Amino acid sequence: MDGFNSADEVIEAIINDIRKNLERSKITYKNMKILITGGAGFLGSYICQVLIAQGAKKVICYDNFASGKKENIETLMDKDNFEFHFHDISVPFNPEENVEIVMHLASRASPFEFEHHPIQILKSNTLGTMNALEVARMYDAQFFYTSTSEVYGNPDPSHVPTPETYWGHVNSVGPRSCYDESKRAGEAYVKAYELEYDIPIRIARIFNTYGPRIRGGPLFGRVVPNFIEQALNNEPISVFGEGKQTRSFTFVSDEIEGLLRLAYPGITAARGEVINIGNNQENTVEELAKLVIEMTSSKSAIKYFALPKDDPVRRCPVLDKAKKILDWQPRTSLRDGLRYTIAWFKYMLQ
Ligand code: UDP
Repeated sequence: MDGFNSADEVIEAIINDIRKNLERSKITYKNMKILITGGAGFLGSYICQVLIAQGAKKVICYDNFASGKKENIETLMDKDNFEFHFHDISVPFNPEENVEIVMHLASRASPFEFEHHPIQILKSNTLGTMNALEVARMYDAQFFYTSTSEVYGNPDPSHVPTPETYWGHVNSVGPRSCYDESKRAGEAYVKAYELEYDIPIRIARIFNTYGPRIRGGPLFGRVVPNFIEQALNNEPISVFGEGKQTRSFTFVSDEIEGLLRLAYPGITAARGEVINIGNNQENTVEELAKLVIEMTSSKSAIKYFALPKDDPVRRCPVLDKAKKILDWQPRTSLRDGLRYTIAWFKYMLQ
């Protein structure tokens, strides 16, 4: 199917691609000890796999499968250098082992969950961030925080594309506030620990990322898996509003490569920095719907639904800082990224 023989082969191709691109720049986590929260999630599981593939001394993964999945880390469970802890990170934790980097990724990130699990989201991004920072403090480790483009909220179009210096335009009592405001508070925690304890920190602001392993199913409601599943089932494509809102869709291999560059201690210029990691090719939701229909040769028609409250009108990053400090920019076109993602979903829906 599309040059692959299984869903695992699609993932393997992505992992190899990330490794190749990192190793070309001599970025390797070989022999390092890294703790990762949310390590069974969509992004976290790729990070765990790349770190293990690069020969990390130990990868310690914390996850409570709130949105992560056991299947995502199944191939790692029997590795000597991989350790898994089933744990809710809003409760303090201690690996009781020296780690060099703490990567904090744990959080539910889908708008559907903002509505159904707002308290848990607030807790993992505030208390969870503080607990993860405490681990970094205990072991003198570097702290890597995955923040989000959501900290920019719904910017006036004159602030799109958005640089890291933009302060944001967020509704603190809106339907997305549990996520936006707690991620903002998380950034403030990280800066506070840097100020008070001199912890080396780095903050990534992640833009809409898609790819194999992104959760599908009607409950999770992210646009790319929704459209692909609907198209493959020849069901109506659910475009919200008129579909004129934009997102800059980042393919998972690009995102993970960018994150692992930013977290890499050898890139010393990244210390203390906040950097957008995303794609700067902006597409409307309607364009995405049409592309997915075309690429799946689907009989689906577009069906329009009400636009959710506070849905950001445009989202696109300025990437100058990532290019300058990390020598990174996304390489994968939307069409190429969708090719991998559609291939993976075809296997998963079989
Ligand atoms: N969207 C849509 N149909 C869907 C799911 C989402 O039109 O079935 C829209 C949504 O309103 C938003 C964009 O697609 O404008 C991206 O939504 P997603 O939930 O993927 O992420 P967000 O960027 O909103 O966090």
